[in-house]
Amino acid sequence: MPTQVNHNEATGPKAKADREIIAFGIAVAAIMLFVAIGGSLMPQIVFAWQGRGEPPDPVLVNALLLNIALLLFGWRRYSDLKREIEERKLAEQRAQVLAATDPLTGCLNRRSIRSEAKQMLTDATRLGQAVAVVMFDLDNFKSINDNNGHKVGDIVLVESSKRARALLPAAAKLARIGGDEFMFLVAFEPDNSGAIDDFAKKLVEEVSEAILVGDRAIHITVSAGIATTLDVGAELPIDELAHRADIALYEAKKRGRNRYFRFSMAMERDQHLRKEMEDAMRIGIVAGEFVPFFEQQIDLETGKLVGFEMLARWNSAQLGSISPEVFIPVAEDADLIGAVSEILIRKALSEAKEWHHSLTLSINISPLQMRDPWFAQKLLQMLVEAGFPPQRLEVEITESCLHESLENVRAIITSLKNQGIRLSLDDFGTGYSSLAQLRSLPFDRLKIDRSFVSDLASGNGNVELVEAIVALGRGLDLPVTAEGVESAEVMNLLRSMGDIKTQGYYFGQPESASETRNRLAVMNMLAENGDGVEEPQPGLPIPAAPQRKSA
Ligand code: C2E
Ligand code: CA
Ligand code: CA
Repeated sequence: MPTQVNHNEATGPKAKADREIIAFGIAVAAIMLFVAIGGSLMPQIVFAWQGRGEPPDPVLVNALLLNIALLLFGWRRYSDLKREIEERKLAEQRAQVLAATDPLTGCLNRRSIRSEAKQMLTDATRLGQAVAVVMFDLDNFKSINDNNGHKVGDIVLVESSKRARALLPAAAKLARIGGDEFMFLVAFEPDNSGAIDDFAKKLVEEVSEAILVGDRAIHITVSAGIATTLDVGAELPIDELAHRADIALYEAKKRGRNRYFRFSMAMERDQHLRKEMEDAMRIGIVAGEFVPFFEQQIDLETGKLVGFEMLARWNSAQLGSISPEVFIPVAEDADLIGAVSEILIRKALSEAKEWHHSLTLSINISPLQMRDPWFAQKLLQMLVEAGFPPQRLEVEITESCLHESLENVRAIITSLKNQGIRLSLDDFGTGYSSLAQLRSLPFDRLKIDRSFVSDLASGNGNVELVEAIVALGRGLDLPVTAEGVESAEVMNLLRSMGDIKTQGYYFGQPESASETRNRLAVMNMLAENGDGVEEPQPGLPIPAAPQRKSA
């Protein structure tokens, strides 16, 4: 151990400094000697050379020559040292650049953007300028990686950052702060805040231009969120500004991606509420607060009750009763949709088992559940456990499922269909599914969204639309369900259009499991007393069938 220490001391920076001091001492001594000896010797040498005097003492001449040698040595040492210092400075600069940038894109990294931001905020305050923080994130980048490989993913990241850089003024700072997450900072004149919207708008447009990789065109979109010191006051630290830009980015994602938003306080409140709801949801899942309600489905041709759609209800101990339109998106976001849905399906299946065997059960499935490769297995297992025949189950998926990885969705649907489960396309007409997509999956039914049905009788042009969808269904051999029937008028209008199933508040609001059981008991349509009955009595307020428009 001691030798090690000695060795270190002999080569360490201290030893080096010592040597430099000695070299410096030698150089100074050499110069002094040169001046002293040379001063008296040089005239002697010159005189002797001109033949005007005695030659100098050879010992002194040798001393002078040695002195000159020492000076040359000192000079070399000095220039070596200078070069070494310059090299070290360059290496340090290179290391600094490496530590501050993202190696893939050359953008600043998360660490360095913070110090740049602090500087920019200070400078801007001094100059009376405002600063904008813009967060942006490539939409569905994971699927680009999954479908094309990481190399292509990298190219997309580099190209996107280049496009963003090209839009920005030179003084703006661009950083990559995560996988596909970027951020830029730009100072602007307070009366020109529209320029920031222009950047964001162009960013969304230009990053979305196809990226060519070899002979492949990769399509990606981008979402962005903006927070500026103008909106929130310059005193806010950079972390808070970035947090607000993040909230605005989240809003852009939530509202369908491929767009940008500016931060507002309402967004922050909204996020706070979501967090609160998410916490209450975790408690509610354990406490059994999620229950299925059931909405009747009526066959208009026969006037009979043919089944129920299960609709989720949540009465939270903390937050009161919350609509599924509010809590389903929160559950999706918090990755709780699978757990909530499973509880509801289990409860619904065990209820539906008690109904007459002619009655079907429809359940709504979130597109997110279609990403779970085990979804089909899980559902089949629940059916087996409940002892409910798959042929009586109908799964409703919305058009947005068709925008998911279609191969996954197809695999899930094939296993469900193989077991005899039926498949409906829900909320038809509200999305953008093409005919090709419609035919690419083996749907058994189209459900016309209630927004087209509810005010059908008010003469606003929806009649033609609904007729067209019914005709489309007929052409594709897909029966149609119209939801949202609220009046006898609408029901009769629908009945004139063909063989349609309906549901809606006209036939009653969705009811709890026990209310549904009571209703079925009155109709003699429970499994225990109804299974033996060939023709259960529906007892529904349906008038005699009017003439039909088409066969
Ligand atoms: P949806 O699948 O389109 O369900 C029909 C919605 O329309 C239900 O709203 C129902 O109560 C309502 N409705 C039915 N008839 C009428 C009517 O005549 N007039 C009016 N104005 N409304 C009517 P609800 O129960 O609030 O559900 C809203 C949405 O939440 C559902 O729309 C569905 O997309 C989703 N949802 C409900 N339960 C679940 C579930 O268990 N899982 C998933 N993933 N989504 C669910
Ligand atoms: Ca539905
Ligand atoms: Ca609907």
